[in-house]
Amino acid sequence: MKKLFAALCVAVGLAGCASTQTAPTTSSSYTTMDKSAQSAMTADGAIAALKDGNQRFVSGNMIKRDLMKQVKATGYAQYPLATVVSCIDSRAGPEIVFDQGIGDVFSARVAGNFVNEDILGSLEFATKAAGSKVVVVLGHSSCGAIKGACDDVVLGNLTGMLAKIKPAVADVSMAGDRTSKNDAFVQMVAEANVKRTVNDIMAKSPVLKAMADAGQIKIVGAMLDVKTGVVTWY
Ligand SMILES: [Zn+2]
Repeated sequence: MKKLFAALCVAVGLAGCASTQTAPTTSSSYTTMDKSAQSAMTADGAIAALKDGNQRFVSGNMIKRDLMKQVKATGYAQYPLATVVSCIDSRAGPEIVFDQGIGDVFSARVAGNFVNEDILGSLEFATKAAGSKVVVVLGHSSCGAIKGACDDVVLGNLTGMLAKIKPAVADVSMAGDRTSKNDAFVQMVAEANVKRTVNDIMAKSPVLKAMADAGQIKIVGAMLDVKTGVVTWY
């Protein structure tokens, strides 16, 4: 395992294995993540940092970072605190809605924030190999992919992608209008999809499940309201 881990690190040239590292960049308002900051970070601490960041985002008090300073501090190694699986939606960028900087967050994005083998592999890298402490599945309101799944949209490669979201549509037993015209239904399916994705991660990744069971990471769901910017946690 140690050999495999070292090989992974060499292959990607980052995280956790760098023998030399730059000093943490600190100011009165933020810290660029480094090896010691990541080592000291817990899963609950990472969740708290994201919650604090969302509150700053919502209140308009985002940290004024020197991003190029953070680029220089993280150029040779990265030590992110969190990994986020979110939709490609233009309003759902995790670094923005959680007010995070360079080197803070691994971000896996796909329309409808589901997981497949490639994304699971990415999450395993981001946690097991690169040390992030929490996996957040971030869904959002008014999601076009969720609406497409509700409406059985057929369009090129989108058809196959939506098939991966449709189980969440079936999870919602609501009677009546089960199309994208029903905002309440779309929201319920989006929430069901987040819960399903969290469960899928645990069911389909023994690596992540073992880390979660051992308390090394947490895997949690959350929903972004695109009308307010507020993230609600499960
Ligand atoms: Zn979406």
